[in-house]
Amino acid sequence: TYVVTDACINCKYQDCIEVCPVDCFYEGENTIVINTEECIDCGVCEPECPVDAIKPDTIPNSAFWVELNQKHAESW
Ligand code: SF4
Repeated sequence: TYVVTDACINCKYQDCIEVCPVDCFYEGENTIVINTEECIDCGVCEPECPVDAIKPDTIPNSAFWVELNQKHAESW
């Protein structure tokens, strides 16, 4: 899965949402998140993010971001 990290806070530029083929982005109060169970790992969103907030789950500490994205995605 891909995850949205902290650079997204208060950005909410929405091109990532538009390009996602499975519509797995969810918009919250301060950030956008990815539903990690719906993400198909296509990577299309990553270059669309102007603040480089979207990362693959191969980054260090990705478990923290996966959990945070999923928690927020499920609450909306
Ligand atoms: Fe959507 Fe693909 Fe990005 Fe996953 S990697 S959030 S499926 S655009």
